[in-house]
Amino acid sequence: IEEINNVTPEYVRSFEFDSKLMPSTWIVVRIDGCHFHRFSEVHEFVKPNDDRALNLMNLCAVAVLEKFWEDIVFAYGVSDEYSFIIKKTCNLYQRRANKMVSAIVSFFTSTYVMRWNEFFPQSELKYPPSFDGRAVCYPSTEILRDYLSWRQVDCHINNQYNSCFWKLVASGKSKREAQNSLKGGQLQKKIEELAIDYNKLPVMFRQGSSVYRDKVDTVPTHEENGNSFESKGKVIVEHVDIIGPTFWLEHLNILDE
Ligand code: ATP
Ligand code: ATP
Ligand code: MG
Ligand code: MG
Ligand code: MG
Ligand code: MG
Ligand code: MG
Repeated sequence: IEEINNVTPEYVRSFEFDSKLMPSTWIVVRIDGCHFHRFSEVHEFVKPNDDRALNLMNLCAVAVLEKFWEDIVFAYGVSDEYSFIIKKTCNLYQRRANKMVSAIVSFFTSTYVMRWNEFFPQSELKYPPSFDGRAVCYPSTEILRDYLSWRQVDCHINNQYNSCFWKLVASGKSKREAQNSLKGGQLQKKIEELAIDYNKLPVMFRQGSSVYRDKVDTVPTHEENGNSFESKGKVIVEHVDIIGPTFWLEHLNILDE
């Protein structure tokens, strides 16, 4: 004890460097399941799209929006990933990146574990799943929209590929054969060749999931313990095109600054 008496908290602290996220920019925290290729096999996810797993992801995202309701305005999810869009004016943890990412990713993960049984009542969790996370700043709404479009395009391309891949496997091809036959070729052509009725697939598989607060247009204030609160609106999950302008024009409040 005596030996460490001269070690001041200031000295130990002086080694800590907080990276702060740039002020007045949109922050995207993207989380992604670690080794979910394996996790989905061990837990027998239906391929290519297990809707129980997707619905569990969506529920966790709703929980995140409800918990961080002052700061997170939108989320977009596909497969084992979710992107959370945080307001430009957010000052949560003084915008310290480590704090923000770790708080979101750990809350998401613990919710995933707590609620697993509701979605997979027949199958026990065989080991603890984990997610990683990162934060990226986007200086304008236009670039943020480009980011979201990129994720939705990725969803579409992966889903086309996976639909072909698993159709080939179902027809008796090995995974290697399926992979080889999809190399280089145009996916659109493959879909026709394999007679996949792509547009009949559930919209959640094709467009991913968008989570946001359904704005009640008359903003009623209600009394709670003597304080009045603005109604926050219910958090909802929709499967919509977020690349074109229509969705954003119909929901101007989501990305207003
Ligand atoms: P990493 O740790 O680098 O993220 P990963 O194995 O998680 O590795 P990803 O690129 O994130 O790789 O891909 C996630 C994988 O999880 C998909 O390829 C798919 O096999 C599986 N997966 C995730 N969600 C589902 C789902 N709802 N239905 C079926 N499979 C899924
Ligand atoms: P923050 O979110 O800022 O970390 P906090 O409430 O978690 O806020 P900490 O400084 O991390 O504050 O302190 C953790 C608190 O949790 C302790 O002050 C104590 O009250 C409680 N705590 C943690 N572990 C134990 C334990 N094993 N037994 C009893 N209390 C505990
Ligand atoms: Mg990853
Ligand atoms: Mg992953
Ligand atoms: Mg992924
Ligand atoms: Mg502590
Ligand atoms: Mg603490």
